Amino acid sequence: MTDVLNGLRDVAGLEVSTEPDVLAAYGRDQGPVLEFIEPLAVVLPTTVDQVQDVMRWASSTGTAVVPRGAGTGVSGGAHATRNCIVLSLERMNRILDIRVEDELAVVEPGVINADLNAAVAPHGLMYAPDPASYRISTIGGNVATNAGGLRCAKYGVTRDSVLALDVVLADGTLIHTGHGTFKGVAGYDLTGLFTGSEGTLGIVVGITVRLRYLPREVCTVAAFFPDFQTAAAGVLAVGAARVQPAIMELLDSETMISLDSTQGSDLRARGGALLLIQTDGFAAETEAAMVRSVLTDLGGTVSTEDTEEAVRLVELRRHSRGDEVDDEFRVGEDVAVPRSKLVHYIAELEQMAKTHRVKLKVVAHAGDGNLHPTFWINTNEAPEGLDRLNAALDESVNVALAMGGTITGEHGVGQYKLRWLPLEQGAQVLEYQRRIKELFDPAGILNPGKAIA
Ligand SMILES: Cc1cc2nc3c(=O)[nH]c(=O)nc-3n(C[C@H](O)[C@H](O)[C@H](O)COP(=O)(O)OP(=O)(O)OC[C@H]3O[C@@H](n4cnc5c(N)ncnc54)[C@H](O)[C@@H]3O)c2cc1C
Repeated sequence: MTDVLNGLRDVAGLEVSTEPDVLAAYGRDQGPVLEFIEPLAVVLPTTVDQVQDVMRWASSTGTAVVPRGAGTGVSGGAHATRNCIVLSLERMNRILDIRVEDELAVVEPGVINADLNAAVAPHGLMYAPDPASYRISTIGGNVATNAGGLRCAKYGVTRDSVLALDVVLADGTLIHTGHGTFKGVAGYDLTGLFTGSEGTLGIVVGITVRLRYLPREVCTVAAFFPDFQTAAAGVLAVGAARVQPAIMELLDSETMISLDSTQGSDLRARGGALLLIQTDGFAAETEAAMVRSVLTDLGGTVSTEDTEEAVRLVELRRHSRGDEVDDEFRVGEDVAVPRSKLVHYIAELEQMAKTHRVKLKVVAHAGDGNLHPTFWINTNEAPEGLDRLNAALDESVNVALAMGGTITGEHGVGQYKLRWLPLEQGAQVLEYQRRIKELFDPAGILNPGKAIA
């Protein structure tokens, strides 16, 4: 294999590392690792030409390539696979253009989400998709996973903000998809296809994103309820009042206890569940008043938070995943259900945790019906406890699907959720996806064993 890597080292200016600590650090993301596989090498291109050369080398040698942004994915999409190289896009991190009047920006894939927002804010603009990992994840990774976030309740997911892409295909060919306009319906929507393809169809090397106006007014309402199900009912009550919040997040008591212990907050003392709502735009205060009224009627203890406290609460929500990385004993889920089923699904989750005697905490992008239940057991409960944990995970997925939901609302299938994909998608649909994969990547070298079954 050394000879093969020599060919890779011939790529002008490309950093190629085989240092053990680099291979260990880049060999996995933040998803559960079922079997750690060390990559052959980690390559860190800085130019599109280098990415093309790497892919030409990979296709001529038949070497698998795992693309990687910041490695914050939680489904194992960036885990190394056997005999692969990891292609990190982190050094391609320039913002190439900001076109204020067109409300768009052109970026390289390694730009950190928060850095783009900081760059466009002085122009009165924002890049709306804001995963809770926005300070550490890359736009390229966000595109590859079609990431969601807090503001998606109003502004949509990543795909809704991607106008055009530059993509290097498996054989090194560079293509451009999409357009520099908000509208455009010429041909099949390849931009939409590559967005969310988890690195299995091509390497995203350039992204044209749509920007939105940064709202001048923002109001944050915190509503504490005695129990989680009533807080979830608040989501529907706000919808029935025809208010469209920018952010609508739900935190259960276990999540608040965990935040209080790690962040020094006092959330649990204020109630048993928190519904955090942010309205924005010139009507923000009017909408917030409506939200307060509706949630008070529902029995909530409701307050409008001043700016400092509002920022703190939203930041706490972004931290709710905690610093722990998932493993076989602790798995964070990403199911979504139709919003009308939210209260019922939460009741089912609470029952599952009791039935299978596993611990549970839940945080939800409730405006989208997207839930992140985390199930866990203590390590000393293995091996029998692992069966209970997996039974709870399987049941949470099956119940979400039976309600018309999905196995993954925003994190992607990656490696970890592959076992559930055939439960959601029929044999014919899976077959068509395999054919699309074969068209772009006939030798199967792009992120094998991920995203499609
Ligand atoms: C604390 C925390 C909070 C999070 N909150 C959210 C959230 O609110 N919403 C959400 O959706 N996710 C969330 N995530 C998950 C994760 O941050 C997102 O999936 C994010 O989009 C991954 O970006 P990344 O740069 O880290 O990509 P990586 O993890 O490096 O890669 C993700 C996938 O994209 C592929 N990929 C990466 N870059 C490219 C590229 N340029 N071309 C082709 N394929 C590529 C990889 O192969 C992999 O399959 C969170 C994670 C953490 C740790």
